[in-house]
Amino acid sequence: MANQKHLQELIDKLHIERNLSKEEWISLISGRTPKLSHYLFSLARKERCRHYGTDIYIRGLIEFTNYCRNDCFYCGIRRSNAFVHRYRLSEDDILTCCHTGYLLGFRTFVLQGGEDGFYTDERMVHLIQSVKELYPDCALTLSAGEKSYETYQRFFDAGADRYLLRHETADFSHYKRLHPLCLSAKKRQECLWNLKEIGYQTGTGFMVGSPFQKAEHLAEDMLFIKKLNPHMVGIGPFIPHQDTPFADKKAGTLELTLFMLGLLRLMLPKVLLPATTALGTIAKNGRELGILAGANVVMPNLSPISVRKDYSLYDNKICTGEEAAEGSKALKERMDAIGYQIVTARGDSLISSI
Ligand code: SAM
Repeated sequence: MANQKHLQELIDKLHIERNLSKEEWISLISGRTPKLSHYLFSLARKERCRHYGTDIYIRGLIEFTNYCRNDCFYCGIRRSNAFVHRYRLSEDDILTCCHTGYLLGFRTFVLQGGEDGFYTDERMVHLIQSVKELYPDCALTLSAGEKSYETYQRFFDAGADRYLLRHETADFSHYKRLHPLCLSAKKRQECLWNLKEIGYQTGTGFMVGSPFQKAEHLAEDMLFIKKLNPHMVGIGPFIPHQDTPFADKKAGTLELTLFMLGLLRLMLPKVLLPATTALGTIAKNGRELGILAGANVVMPNLSPISVRKDYSLYDNKICTGEEAAEGSKALKERMDAIGYQIVTARGDSLISSI
């Protein structure tokens, strides 16, 4: 009981000071209980409402290529997975997705894909300019992996507003257990600092329950995120994919993912926090629970239906129903049912870019 009291005091301290020490993060994360979660989520909801009310921002996710030069051990579209049916969307295909999305009320498009050499800087710049010319009132988010400073700058100058690049895990040795040697946590983190310096609304994030993850790694994630002070943080449970080296590893839990969402909301009250597809995949009401733990963004899938099953990062990824852009009426009803409303707005971050 004394321990519970101490942990509740840590939540109060986080609420007031917006930060904890590494040891405090570890105690709180490893000592969490349903009662503490309940308390945390009530504070997280208050913080979210203070800044964003009960508005939920929607982003139209366009998974534009599943070719990837990388071989991350956890990812279903890793280079070595020979069972993937590879596809890439043309610029016309992508513009058609944007058109559909615009009519459905989306004012942010997220172009996400593997690191695909076909999409040279020139092709990307052309694509970014075309989207921004046709939809000047929309925000364009890129999530296309690690690039040089110059390339990020070119994309920004072409009109890209935001960039999502999860740091995956802040702990350097944990990072090595999830990735081949040619990828490094240092390089990934440098990319994030570059994106911020250029002026993007920048998003980072990590998988909850990734193989070998311990409370101390999550503590390091929180410390790194505090330092970076990003505009967005995308977290979701790790879910195994049958054709990867981590096929037999356990998935991250709904419960821990929700707890981390609540902690993030208290640490960075103004952050944009999605209730992710992975959260909706491990539990039918995962996204609603994510919102009730402090999230304020959902990212329905706008990709052409014919390619959706091929962007399979993990097993059983949801891509139809309320998850899909065309299911937005049902999504709206689900959000209404818990007292929140989907809004048609760009939904820019309230955190300043400088
Ligand atoms: N290539 C870009 C990049 O590196 O950021 C974007 C695509 S990448 C597939 C998008 C995110 O999917 C990754 O940052 C990772 O966190 C997540 N992801 C990949 N495999 C996953 C899995 N098995 N379970 C949960 N999330 C996964």
